[in-house]
Amino acid sequence: MSHLRPDGDAIGSQLALGLALEEMGKTVYYWNVDGLPESMEFLPYSDKISLPPEVAPLIDVAVALDTATKVRLGEANIAACAQAKLWVNIDHHMSNPRYGDMNYVDATSPATGQIIYEIIQALQMPLPDGTRDAIYVAVSTDTGSFQYDSTTAKTYRMAADLMDRGLKIGQINAKTYDNHPYRRVELLRTLLNTLELSAAGKVASWEMLDATRVSLQLQPDDSEGLIDMIRAIRGVQVAVFFEELPDGKIRVSMRSKDRSVDVCKIATIFGGGGHYLAAGIRMAGPIAAAKELVLAEIAKAI
Ligand code: AMP
Ligand code: MN
Ligand code: MN
Repeated sequence: MSHLRPDGDAIGSQLALGLALEEMGKTVYYWNVDGLPESMEFLPYSDKISLPPEVAPLIDVAVALDTATKVRLGEANIAACAQAKLWVNIDHHMSNPRYGDMNYVDATSPATGQIIYEIIQALQMPLPDGTRDAIYVAVSTDTGSFQYDSTTAKTYRMAADLMDRGLKIGQINAKTYDNHPYRRVELLRTLLNTLELSAAGKVASWEMLDATRVSLQLQPDDSEGLIDMIRAIRGVQVAVFFEELPDGKIRVSMRSKDRSVDVCKIATIFGGGGHYLAAGIRMAGPIAAAKELVLAEIAKAI
């Protein structure tokens, strides 16, 4: 399992670990409460990702991947794993409260996908081609294409090893980054019209109303990564994306340019979490109130 609104690291980690375990003869189910995002359909065997079933099969071990808190797995996943004898929690969020029976939380790792790679190496598990591709996409998407500070020499050595194992680098990057639906660029146009600077130009924010989701027929992953565009503004320290969800809650996505502002700490104030440079919140609306509260905390931190 991985977190709701899954990103590349969530889906990639599920496939990477699951396919290796299947190669060892294990029976694996791949569950996500929001299913497979369209942007990840290109990954080999991604059609194995399904919603958790209402009547769950007997399972021995529940593995949570890339999921900062147990509730972010979603209720249906937790219910489907109620009979599991062992809970394993593999993650790289520093805010992870270690909710498993066994916990492998490495906040120095740039992606859960890299932890999976290290586990596979350490335990001499098989690394089939599907796992290879999934690890690459997991790490690439969580590091902003191997750019963030969290990227280490180990990360590049891992990528080199994946290439030695036959990874088609140009092809997989094109499928990951040059294959967006037109509606995503229409969303970008809408977001740009709401762009605001605050805190003397150190904070850039934009917002998306639920009506935009309806009119552009957006999928949850269509906004993934767009925030990097306003994080890249000269002088901006923190970028924030406010999104009105269908249930009226507000999803807040934050990015910091460097460690002088810890957005995870700000997220934690509102019950969210994440990393120093990338964190998120789900909080009560309306959107104007959420904006005021979060921007005030960010201004204070700056
Ligand atoms: P996002 O802005 O949604 O891409 O998320 C940035 C990082 O913060 C990711 O590593 C998420 O897993 C984490 N994150 C996002 N939302 C939450 C939340 N409500 N609670 C805990 N962690 C979160
Ligand atoms: Mn993730
Ligand atoms: Mn991750």
